[in-house]
Amino acid sequence: MEFIVAIDGPAGSGKGTITKLVGETLALVNIDTGATFRCVALNMLQEGIKIKEEDKIKDLLEKIEIDMKESGEVFLNGKEVTKKIRENEVSNFVSQVSTIQIVRNRLLEIQRKIAEGKNVIMEGRDIGTVVFPKADVKIYLDASPEERAKRRVKQNQEKGITTSYEDVLKNIIDRDKRDSTREIAPLKRAEDAIYIDSTSMTIGEVVDKIVKIVKDKKQT
Ligand code: C5P
Repeated sequence: MEFIVAIDGPAGSGKGTITKLVGETLALVNIDTGATFRCVALNMLQEGIKIKEEDKIKDLLEKIEIDMKESGEVFLNGKEVTKKIRENEVSNFVSQVSTIQIVRNRLLEIQRKIAEGKNVIMEGRDIGTVVFPKADVKIYLDASPEERAKRRVKQNQEKGITTSYEDVLKNIIDRDKRDSTREIAPLKRAEDAIYIDSTSMTIGEVVDKIVKIVKDKKQT
């Protein structure tokens, strides 16, 4: 039987790192839904397609192939794009792309298909509310914008991408606003999600806490 853990939260809340570590600890397949949106954004940039060009977006969505390896590598139409989808150009465009309903519908199919028949941990913005409203465990992970910006800069550095703290903080504040006020699938905490504020917690503490929650749930 499949078991689903949903991790939602704003940009830079540590979802990516935490999801990866909890997934490894509990042998759950890790599916990063933000990466699927980033792939559509990158593909639109590559093809020079604008937000309002619905017909072109439809065509693109019919052809698009997104694949995620268990190692975390992301493939778009057969090409490896793991690093490319994290560049600022994509980060700045992706929130707009994620408000397009046909994009969300198509990605919902792709995300559910990737999860089929597996024990998964999935991170995103609307996993517990829209993608898997019946998830076995739902976590809402949060942290202050300043702490999240600090973490993002460090994460980018480790990936070999140089970004300034000020740019990243501004990007995070803008994205929070867009992601939580948009009409379509806003970032929202599911009523039955467990809220964790990780601002002054270490990664290890957050991981331990979630692992314990999942183990307790599996026993019930
Ligand atoms: O998590 P990450 O920063 O990679 O997500 C990129 C963007 O994708 C977010 O800013 C958000 O607009 C969008 N997204 C979404 N729904 C999800 C995951 C991501 O709208 N489930």
